[in-house]
Amino acid sequence: MRWSLKVGSLFGIRIEVHVTFLIMIAGFSLWGSSGPGDALRTALELLLLFACVLLHELGHALTARRFGIVTREIILLPIGGVARLERMPARPVQEVAVALAGPGVNLMLATLFGGLLLATGRTPEATMTALQHGGLLEFLFVANLTMILFNLIPAFPMDGGRVLRAVLAMFLPYVRATRIASLVGQGFALLFALTGLLLFRQSPALVFVALFVFMAAGEERAVVQTRSSLAGLPVSAAMVTAFVSLETRHELEHAVDLMLAGDQQDFPVLEGGRYLGMLSRHDLIRGLREEGPSSPVGRVVRTNIDPVDAAWPLDRALERMRAARESAVPVMMRGQLIGVLTMENVGELLLVQEARQRHAGVA
Ligand SMILES: [Zn+2]
Repeated sequence: MRWSLKVGSLFGIRIEVHVTFLIMIAGFSLWGSSGPGDALRTALELLLLFACVLLHELGHALTARRFGIVTREIILLPIGGVARLERMPARPVQEVAVALAGPGVNLMLATLFGGLLLATGRTPEATMTALQHGGLLEFLFVANLTMILFNLIPAFPMDGGRVLRAVLAMFLPYVRATRIASLVGQGFALLFALTGLLLFRQSPALVFVALFVFMAAGEERAVVQTRSSLAGLPVSAAMVTAFVSLETRHELEHAVDLMLAGDQQDFPVLEGGRYLGMLSRHDLIRGLREEGPSSPVGRVVRTNIDPVDAAWPLDRALERMRAARESAVPVMMRGQLIGVLTMENVGELLLVQEARQRHAGVA
């Protein structure tokens, strides 16, 4: 993700922290505190809170791994965490398990902290007083309870929204289940926004959460809609077959000529006739700036873009492109480069498919 820093990796999953998250910790510690000791405390509380969020996301990721799903990264944002799974489980039961694993972790943590509080003989009243006076154990107990309740609200992208969709999908087609779940989510988002506006002075954050939920619900609906429109089509139905490719020894200047002469923006790069990597417009511009126009394409080519097979289902290729944030991938058939699959072309195909389906519906 843009503007996020890698802080390490756990179980082979990259852990990233978004810059705004660091700004938030700094901001809360400096503004919301009365002295250096207090500021340090606030920072510590926030860090512990986000350790809980990280464990929550790991709960999702490790459960998904049991179903053979890879998690690319976990990103910590000011509004919480995101575990970016390569794909969603296909079976509703698995989706429910993955969604519930996160709040399940918080339940374990809340039980642990609650148990510790009980062990120290604290009454609920004493717990509330200690919470107001900044007791760390009390804070962690209440924070985990809050995370359970908040995440179980049936609104995308919160876990409760996924559970709702999966349960609906046991009885309804997936697209309809998603449409209903995302409308329920947007309803909740409006409710949040209203509450947030009424209580703006106490909790301005609610308005931002509402905005985020509203957009995420809409996006989820669009992704699922796309997948259903393209269902059953192979990669070869959407790929561009009229394309030019480059050789590693070509100068960047030559790539510029090709780019300006046509409307191709992503070029497959070959070495000795075999596919090696891709050169996008972005790579080309950066190469021109940093390496100069006469340096060879081989110096700036990106070699980490794996080809897809022409016979693959289109939605499988798309899901991989989305997860890796690639705008174009090479398409192979029996080891030969035969096309380029671009997001732009998929968009065009989508318009065509929808027009066809509408026509079929009218006729
Ligand atoms: Zn979650």
